[in-house]
Amino acid sequence: MDKLRNLLDEFGHIADHPEETALAWKEKTGGKVVGVGGLDIPEPLVHAAGMLPVVLLGNEEEVTLANAHVEMHQCGYIRSLVDLALKDKLAFCDELLFHDCCHIVRMLVDALHTYKEGIPKAKFAYFSPLLEYETAQRYTASEMEKLKDTLQAISGNTMTDEKLSESIRLFNRIKKLLVRLYDIRREKPGILSGWDVTQTVAAGMVMPREDYAVKLEELVDLVAALPAPETKGVPVVVHGSLCERCSRSVLEEIEACGGVIVDDDLYVGSKYFNTLYKEELAPMEALLDAYLHRVSPCPTRYEERDPGDYLAEVYNRSGAKGIIMVVVKFCEAHDYLYFTAHRRFEQLGIPEMLVETVHEGAAEGQLKTRLQGFFEKLEV
Ligand code: SF4
Repeated sequence: MDKLRNLLDEFGHIADHPEETALAWKEKTGGKVVGVGGLDIPEPLVHAAGMLPVVLLGNEEEVTLANAHVEMHQCGYIRSLVDLALKDKLAFCDELLFHDCCHIVRMLVDALHTYKEGIPKAKFAYFSPLLEYETAQRYTASEMEKLKDTLQAISGNTMTDEKLSESIRLFNRIKKLLVRLYDIRREKPGILSGWDVTQTVAAGMVMPREDYAVKLEELVDLVAALPAPETKGVPVVVHGSLCERCSRSVLEEIEACGGVIVDDDLYVGSKYFNTLYKEELAPMEALLDAYLHRVSPCPTRYEERDPGDYLAEVYNRSGAKGIIMVVVKFCEAHDYLYFTAHRRFEQLGIPEMLVETVHEGAAEGQLKTRLQGFFEKLEV
């Protein structure tokens, strides 16, 4: 058990202090670190170019400097990111690379350089949000090729197909281990806390992926060997927290009020790893395919299927009794997904509770009362 706790604490520390790991890697390898915003940047491309991709998640520190530049009615992720940049806390990155997921990210990250000198330059990948249109698919394929060229130019390294296929296999290995960890959590509800799972996934967005895969395998084996705990909580699925980690206080409050998180559709959670790359395809095709055929719908992309149907599948396979929708306040895209899914849950009779979060946290007293009421209703 101590070994498991140590590994979880190590992952937690790495997730909270990405700069330490990134700087140590830079010193050891002389390579460049690319700060990546948005889950749609194909990380194997960065890895195959010989650089370390570090997914920028923002953090829960109080936003101060950014308040002079960013309105309070922008999402917490962007406010946090701008604040970190202004405090030189993204200086460990040699480059910033964002997926053009919404107008807020595009506008503010571009504007960063007018607020302060010396912030790493940001580049954007312009993948089409229209996933099902043939012309849009061709456009995205050409943008991915451009991104490949850009990354080769930044790193000074040539990316062969063999190298890219190797990176794809490594990322798939990690994804499969995380899928296994989630399978175990469904089989043994309460085996890990929601926050430990979040930090385990988040560490894999930072660490050199070869090292992460080894440690993650060790962790999964340790968790698999544990007996199922005697939990009596109400099983729930947690969805949401776009572009950032789900707040620790929300996850802990869910568990303190009697919930057991048996599955999730969180950004720092299953959304990050549940789409595997098809290794039988040519490597660039495999990356495009994963972008176009994501397992979990993304609110910033347009596709015909109802996100509520996908969440209903997660709910049904996990034996949950309800879904908690954690929606980031002031994220328009997520608001649209929420209302569509909510309507579907009503049709399907799936109990659901909405938790809106701002960077400064959810109103804790109110959250506790609402969660207690929700769980009581589910237990009847
Ligand atoms: S949380 Fe929403 S508004 Fe904020 S950057 Fe992400 S998609 Fe854009």
